[in-house]
Amino acid sequence: MAYECLTPRSWLYGPVFWHARTSERVVAMTFDDGPCHPYTGHLLEILGREDIRATFFQVGNNVMREPNLAAEVASQHEVGNHTFTHPHLAWSRPRTVREEMLRGQEAIHGATGTLPQLFRVPHGRYGPQVISVAEELGMRCVGWSVMAWDWGRPPADVIQRRILHGVDPGGVTLLHDGQDTDAFPKANRSHTVAAVSDIISSLKASGYGFLTLPELMDLDARVHPSG
Ligand SMILES: [Zn+2]
Repeated sequence: MAYECLTPRSWLYGPVFWHARTSERVVAMTFDDGPCHPYTGHLLEILGREDIRATFFQVGNNVMREPNLAAEVASQHEVGNHTFTHPHLAWSRPRTVREEMLRGQEAIHGATGTLPQLFRVPHGRYGPQVISVAEELGMRCVGWSVMAWDWGRPPADVIQRRILHGVDPGGVTLLHDGQDTDAFPKANRSHTVAAVSDIISSLKASGYGFLTLPELMDLDARVHPSG
């Protein structure tokens, strides 16, 4: 655990999974804030063509707006809970945290038949109460090891460079297929979608394989059974 505590990407509170301890060239791609037409569909096409399974952290409100798209994602990829309204939760009371998580679970389960076992906090800040409520509800909290600040809509080549620069064996990439609870055209993830094919090709050319987050967590647990 010392390794995790010393890294600048460590999390202040408790067991947030953000990286597998492995030297194997594997990475888990994750996408937050969807589903959001048309970007989520474009990503499904790209990932399908590349034969890659990823992990999507869906916002309950967006799932209610796009239930069929949410179900399509869940039929091919892992789905995690990213709350219902995408609030800041770091300082929220446990009751608020629980309500956001439960409404997210209900929306995702209603649309997809899947009950997520992973939770990722919106805006990246966990508080201890967020972690304990997630665990009470049967979810593990996860973070990421590399992101591209793609919510600011930098050009596709910048998104690509940021991900490829930061990725390493056992890493978790974070990109966005939606924007909070917004819909198209207010939400615009065209730059992210444009970057993803090249990110995948470059990683494949460097010998990387792609796992879902649960698969990556299993790999970590096998290598370090004591946790
Ligand atoms: Zn988010």
